[in-house]
Amino acid sequence: MKVKKLILMPITLIAIFLSMLPSMVVTAEHELSADELFASSTRNIKYYNVGLYYDSTCTTSATTLRSEYNNATTAFRAIFDMDLTLSANNVLLSSVLNGGNCSLGNNNACNTSCGALANCNTTHHKGASRLNALLTSSNFYIMRVVGHALCWWGDEYGGTPTHRTTIVGLGQVVGRNSIVSTNSTNLRRIMQHEISHNFGARHITCAGSSIVKCIIAGDINSWCSACSNNIWANR
Ligand SMILES: [Zn+2]
Ligand SMILES: [Zn+2]
Ligand SMILES: [Zn+2]
Ligand SMILES: [Zn+2]
Repeated sequence: MKVKKLILMPITLIAIFLSMLPSMVVTAEHELSADELFASSTRNIKYYNVGLYYDSTCTTSATTLRSEYNNATTAFRAIFDMDLTLSANNVLLSSVLNGGNCSLGNNNACNTSCGALANCNTTHHKGASRLNALLTSSNFYIMRVVGHALCWWGDEYGGTPTHRTTIVGLGQVVGRNSIVSTNSTNLRRIMQHEISHNFGARHITCAGSSIVKCIIAGDINSWCSACSNNIWANR
């Protein structure tokens, strides 16, 4: 009697389990709707005209600059449905970005000998804002790459502007223009950071931290929700 009970118990349990199985399978399964099935073809990919200018002090080859740009923008396609593919035809040399007659050498940003610090954005040879105002286009997003140091009069957190001499890039916040220096250790990351600024990502609202990854906080291929929302709003 005792033996019979012991055998019957597991059999009963298995039977109950098996009877539940079909309904479990049905509820676990997810029927794809037509919208989901065709999601990839109905995504609203936006295509952009993009161009890259590099200056005569830049020692990185045009081929490498193009691949760094295209690698930097791959994640925009995957995450934000934005196509920012750069063609070889749109990578051009322009010596107007070379810092002109700055006597301080390529590795040094401008100082008061180049003009008042507060006038950096309009008069300094290596002023990133001044250089971003050159070679603009009404329908192209322009990336500038220089082989020299950059400087900027401003504050990315909206505070009191100062003369910044250690920046490696500058992107207009909602704009078509950005500049990066090959003095940066990770060109791809700086490009992705500045392009994010072009589409509205801001330091002042970025939620990036040691826990939340974001390109504006120094990561790569990731955006915090605040920066992500800004990009979706401005793409
Ligand atoms: Zn100078
Ligand atoms: Zn300056
Ligand atoms: Zn962010
Ligand atoms: Zn920034």
